Amino acid sequence: METNRSVHRNLIGGQWCEASDVTQNINPSDTRETVGVYARGGTAEAEQAVAAARAAFPAWSCTSPQLRHDILVRAAQEVMSRKNELGHLLSSEEGKTLPEGIGEVTRAANVLAFMAGESLRIPGDRTPGLMAGSDTEVTREPLGVVGVISPWNFPMAIPAWKIAPALAFGNTVVFKPAELVPGSAWALVDILQRAGLPDGVLNLVMGSGSQVGGVLSSHPQVDAISFTGSVPTGRRIAVDCVSGPVMKRMQLEMGGKNPLVILDDADLAIAVECAVQGAFFSTGQRCTASSRFIVTEGIHDRFVAAVIHRLEGLKIGHALDPATHIGPVVDEKQLFVDLSYIDIGRKEGAHLAWGGQRLELAAPGFYLQPALFTEVSPSMRVGREEIFGPVASVTRVRDFDEALHVANDTEFGLAAGICTTSLRYASQFKRHSQAGIVKVNQATSGLDYHLPFGGRKASSYGPREQGRYAVDFYTLIKTAYTSA
Ligand code: NAD
Repeated sequence: METNRSVHRNLIGGQWCEASDVTQNINPSDTRETVGVYARGGTAEAEQAVAAARAAFPAWSCTSPQLRHDILVRAAQEVMSRKNELGHLLSSEEGKTLPEGIGEVTRAANVLAFMAGESLRIPGDRTPGLMAGSDTEVTREPLGVVGVISPWNFPMAIPAWKIAPALAFGNTVVFKPAELVPGSAWALVDILQRAGLPDGVLNLVMGSGSQVGGVLSSHPQVDAISFTGSVPTGRRIAVDCVSGPVMKRMQLEMGGKNPLVILDDADLAIAVECAVQGAFFSTGQRCTASSRFIVTEGIHDRFVAAVIHRLEGLKIGHALDPATHIGPVVDEKQLFVDLSYIDIGRKEGAHLAWGGQRLELAAPGFYLQPALFTEVSPSMRVGREEIFGPVASVTRVRDFDEALHVANDTEFGLAAGICTTSLRYASQFKRHSQAGIVKVNQATSGLDYHLPFGGRKASSYGPREQGRYAVDFYTLIKTAYTSA
């Protein structure tokens, strides 16, 4: 473990390498605190990492699944055994509360263990061919060098659910984490490397999106990109991926504006819990956060009053304070985005029913009261654009049909939820919602790691992540014909 160096370095070809520049990892709960100092690589480091991953691929792609399984199991065990320490690090750099941070680390450990098992279950087919004496086989092979580009809001779980299947199925990786959260990324890579990965199989290049990310998405020696982040960045990466001599495989998981429908027949307590959990916990910084509550007339006023009552009881504070329910916004830039949307909502004529104020607490941090807008029409920007903060809007509708229409009236399609006691409406919503993930009487965020994850429309492009479906992205299918 590279513990006694002050700068956490990049990992290239099995060596922890110096970089010409560094990033100070600032704690958003208390900006006086530096969580650590991390190398900041550029295009040269990215090129070297791609070369190292390419060189390591032939041997790694032919390793026994047992070896890959064992390495992932060892990594899973270490992540799980250090979940409190790593959760503390994650919450310190990202700002989610300590239970949320430990929960995310636990999820990362579970994903590593699950994907260890998947390396032993690579599917294939062998069937009689249609020509006399011909045998046919359908096999899956590693696809090559995978560039992993991740966002800041799940600094350990998202890298784990991309890197673990890439390695399990015999690929090599160059990983570029988000600039704001290098600590969790570095810790995950350090653990995987010490778990026994050969040099060059997993490379870490911390650095800027345009430089390091740009090399990965346009480099001819990178075969595939797994990206999670915003729609504009995803579009840029998609163009890069198809512009080179070899068109790369790509998996793009992007933004959302996720609806939660509340019908008159809903259990009010369940609806309020789904709404507050889904919209405001983790400071609303989840791609699956429900930022639009679509509420039928008969329950509207009771729902709004109950949500406000629940918000009044929440403590906004330092992520590591055990009394805190909602931690700070991740950084100053995102805080300004949130505040500017609160201003836009007011100017558009929405009613700010609760919160929306910046909070000055004892520790200097990026604290924001959750904001609830009511009287939001579906055409308003606060009801259409992804804000990615603790800001939610309430839209009043007549009935289920209008609710479904408003829920689907968006460019996004990641997650959608409904609170109802009607089996008929629940079934219709599951069938007709234009989202990749649908929840009934559950918050839109909070998902199982053994199931496929992804959206529709602008939220997603390419094969699903996670669960046994991950194999579709990380392997190439070959059809072989044999005559004896
Ligand atoms: P972002 O798009 O700004 O950055 C994501 C990553 O892309 C970062 O590592 C960044 O450095 C890199 N990047 C930036 N420019 C690049 C370029 N030109 N080429 C290559 N890489 C580049 O997103 P963010 O602010 O880190 O994350 C928030 C966004 O992520 C939100 O839109 C959120 O909805 C989305 N998100 C989606 C999911 C999902 O699974 N659908 C999950 C979490 C977050």
